[in-house]
Amino acid sequence: MRAGLKNHLKKTVKTIFSIGNSCDKRHKVITILGLKLKINRLNLKTIIEEYKIMHDKSLYIGIPDNITLQMSFNNYCNCKCKFCFEDIAQKKEDKQIIPEKWLYKYFLPLYPKTSILVPTYGEITACKEGYEYLSFIDKNYHHINIFIETNGIAFDEKWAQLASDNLMSVHFSINATNNDYFKKTVWEKDGVYDVIQKNFNRYIEILRARGGGFESFIPSVSCVFNNINYETVKEFVKQYVSRGVHVITCYYDQHEFFCTSLGYKLEEAFITAIELNRVLQGKVLVNYKIYAPTNDIEKYEAIVDAKDINVLKEKYADILELANDMNLDDIFKKQRELRKEKGKNLEPLMGITFHQAIYGDHTICHNPWSHIRLRPNGDVAYCAWSPYLLNLKSFIKKDNINWKEFFNCLYYRRARKNFKNDCYENCRQSCPALRRIPKEDYIAVNKEYREIL
Ligand code: SF4
Ligand code: SF4
Repeated sequence: MRAGLKNHLKKTVKTIFSIGNSCDKRHKVITILGLKLKINRLNLKTIIEEYKIMHDKSLYIGIPDNITLQMSFNNYCNCKCKFCFEDIAQKKEDKQIIPEKWLYKYFLPLYPKTSILVPTYGEITACKEGYEYLSFIDKNYHHINIFIETNGIAFDEKWAQLASDNLMSVHFSINATNNDYFKKTVWEKDGVYDVIQKNFNRYIEILRARGGGFESFIPSVSCVFNNINYETVKEFVKQYVSRGVHVITCYYDQHEFFCTSLGYKLEEAFITAIELNRVLQGKVLVNYKIYAPTNDIEKYEAIVDAKDINVLKEKYADILELANDMNLDDIFKKQRELRKEKGKNLEPLMGITFHQAIYGDHTICHNPWSHIRLRPNGDVAYCAWSPYLLNLKSFIKKDNINWKEFFNCLYYRRARKNFKNDCYENCRQSCPALRRIPKEDYIAVNKEYREIL
């Protein structure tokens, strides 16, 4: 009887107030007057760790210089690629654009410190606001280097003029060697491939007609390969080397290599790209590492390295001949000279997402120090290849953005701390930026780069 009363009393008290764990022990459950509140477990270790990170002065950077502002300007695209893995809006109500107030007011403190602006996914050329925005940047912040990625469909004469006036680095996602392949692997719609080709060719003509170094800004191109078009790697590279393109990127359809192991078809495409890069070294960059279809890049590089270079030269003799007068160093030098003449920021432009910095005796990825990847709804990350775990809206205060708070929030600080310790949480395993470059090698390359450029 007594024991029963005791239990009853205990139960009653518990319903008035108690703190316990949820069944999975992942939450604390607080009971107040019978009401159960589930809250995140108070983990002292985590609290102390976060406190230390937030008070570590070496992780504070204020508002950094040389920012890369990579943004999905609009959440809409005028193409419908079968392999697209971005959440591109299909419905009218989803076609968000980064709010005007952000672009023309909140971002103003960033522009003087921005060296690279990258409109990417959706398609900035598909909306008039995109043209107006880049004209505004061209006029008021001409020092910013604009890297524009386009599917080329709406890259008309007006865009071509703006891009060449601004010395934009333009990248055309061409994705096929002819109309048939375009329909099979990209989009069935008639006429699209021809429009892209027309716009691409016109842009090259405009740059060549201007001369005086403008021709060094001939766009880079890319193609997504899969189990249907895997045999066209060589043809694709040949077509664009013949038009004077110096940077050609081979991507691989992610839907395929995530579902299956690297089959012999993708393997063949991947090895062909590595071989072409080796044969064309110093003349054309055939980029095969971004979104490589394997984490074992080095294994495939070793396979290609073991091959006799003369045999490879023979295999690709027609492309080598087309590339005879091409020289990557000359191209970079010309670009650099013209950028300087036109008042552009001249910091080393290693790439849109790939930024290295020296730390100790080697390099580390620099993105948590200076990279912003933004979507129109405010979702933000320090890299296009890592998850969006932050939203810019939480930093809007008194009708402005507190940028110091943004760059020094827990998310960015924690990544800086981790990267310094070679802990690349949330990173792609095959990311080229994970490769440590010894300090001396990095300086040698950069010195050369600076001298060349
Ligand atoms: S062009 Fe780019 S953004 Fe548009 S559908 Fe294709 S992959 Fe997606
Ligand atoms: S290391 Fe991580 S942050 Fe850096 S580029 Fe690669 S995926 Fe992005």
